[in-house]
Amino acid sequence: MESKKKLRVFVRCPDLGLSTRALILAPDLTLRRLKLSFLPQSLLSQTLTLDSLYFCLNGKPLPDSSSLAAAGIPNSSALTLRLRLRGGGGDGGATGAESRDCYLNMYATKKPDKVDPNETRLSKWTTCALSAEPLVPPCVIDRLGNLFNKEPLVEALLHKKLPKEFSHIRGLKDMIPIHLTPIPSAADSETKFQCPITGQEFNGKYGFLVIRGCGHVLSVKALKEVESSTCLVCHKEFSNMDKIVINGSAEEVRALREMMEEERGRLKGRKEKKVGTCLSGTKHAINEKDGTLDDRKKDGGGKRFKAVDMMPAHATKEVYASIFTSSKKFDFQETFTCRSLPLGRN
Ligand SMILES: [Zn+2]
Repeated sequence: MESKKKLRVFVRCPDLGLSTRALILAPDLTLRRLKLSFLPQSLLSQTLTLDSLYFCLNGKPLPDSSSLAAAGIPNSSALTLRLRLRGGGGDGGATGAESRDCYLNMYATKKPDKVDPNETRLSKWTTCALSAEPLVPPCVIDRLGNLFNKEPLVEALLHKKLPKEFSHIRGLKDMIPIHLTPIPSAADSETKFQCPITGQEFNGKYGFLVIRGCGHVLSVKALKEVESSTCLVCHKEFSNMDKIVINGSAEEVRALREMMEEERGRLKGRKEKKVGTCLSGTKHAINEKDGTLDDRKKDGGGKRFKAVDMMPAHATKEVYASIFTSSKKFDFQETFTCRSLPLGRN
């Protein structure tokens, strides 16, 4: 009967700043259930799930599926609930501190709180793709059809903290302000917006488009039914290129990406052309004799300034020039097995 005796266990979670609690527990309670009862529901979110925490006893990680008795937890011991460090594996799992058993267990046991696809869909349409907070105007959309609250996106962009998946957002010009039409009586429902024409809810069940010029968000159905080349809300004209599909299929996102890249290529070409004309037209050079500005074009392409011309007497030409350039060629070779570096160059 000894094994049926209840255990007194101290549970602490310094990672989340929770205070230590003394609990009397049945030995057949699993660590997972203990986790559930110890953590306040309010703390769990999309980023902090049950799986992002694990129990440790004296520094040794314990698998969630085992019971207190099976994990060999003695009476009056102190368990620590730790936050998993996001490791190099990209799965948010291994910390390197875990035993192999624990690692294998992670994959062997079926994850009970697998994400519901319906929920994922809804959250894509009702929350910011970056902050995961509910969408609250002012909202913006990127060139690929992802929805954001403007503030966290601008903040992340300013502090260069945008995750890689949003690296296509390079500046304010890549955020298109959008106008979402609120559902008047939807204060506490999850879907808060709708199509101003058809009344279809903005919940992922229907296709929606943003018109780039004015930012109005309309259902695909509305635009199909009323064939028009002007916005159905503000009557501003738009072309097919101005339509951005919101949360589109992989195929639609690929098309949007292509369009964005093509447009960037065009813009770049135009810019280079501009710089080219500027160079040949109005470049000024400093007259070397009297230090005044003179028009390079007038004197037929003035002498190019070279660092060595200003070289102090007795300086070695090569050494002096090397202060300004790094173009000296070395006659050593790199092969795929060996990175050859001359001594002292690193
Ligand atoms: Zn409009």
